[in-house]
Amino acid sequence: MKKKINSYIIPFTVLKPGEHSYLFSVEKGLFTDNNYDEIHDCQLKAHVTFNKNSAIITVNFHIYGTINVTCDRCGDDFDMDINLDSKILVKTDSIVHSEEDDMISLGKDEVDFDIAPYIYQYIVLSLPMQRIHPEDKDGVRHCNPEALKKLKNLEVKNSSEEQYRLDTNKLLQHLKEKPLNN
Ligand SMILES: [Zn+2]
Repeated sequence: MKKKINSYIIPFTVLKPGEHSYLFSVEKGLFTDNNYDEIHDCQLKAHVTFNKNSAIITVNFHIYGTINVTCDRCGDDFDMDINLDSKILVKTDSIVHSEEDDMISLGKDEVDFDIAPYIYQYIVLSLPMQRIHPEDKDGVRHCNPEALKKLKNLEVKNSSEEQYRLDTNKLLQHLKEKPLNN
């Protein structure tokens, strides 16, 4: 069974025992609504499977597609591949809501289960600290060559300024040791 629904909320209590699959399109609003501005856009699907056999439901997530982020090397935006799997267990016979590690207990008044926070968290936590244009099959990174050239010029300029300062210091030192009028 594969249903396509727009909301991220699953009516848990009406789920019959067995396996239930849902395919979600992840909208960029999931990130902008949380004020997370490092993901500018996304083309993501979340395939979520619920296995209900008892009071514990196993929820498997497979999230795949691309997200648009800024390259830390050249400053251009690029689409980064995302492909991750995760799993949580949801206990439905508790009285009080509680969460620990990958086990969630729903309170007795909770009839729905919102998977949006989990999808959000899995994606954001999967992002590497440094995001750089990936290498293609020939090992070439498609960074913006103009931007890289500008950065390189900036580096050269900085190092020549540095050199100039050093030389000035050397000259001053030299003048102190051997004044010109001597
Ligand atoms: Zn780049």
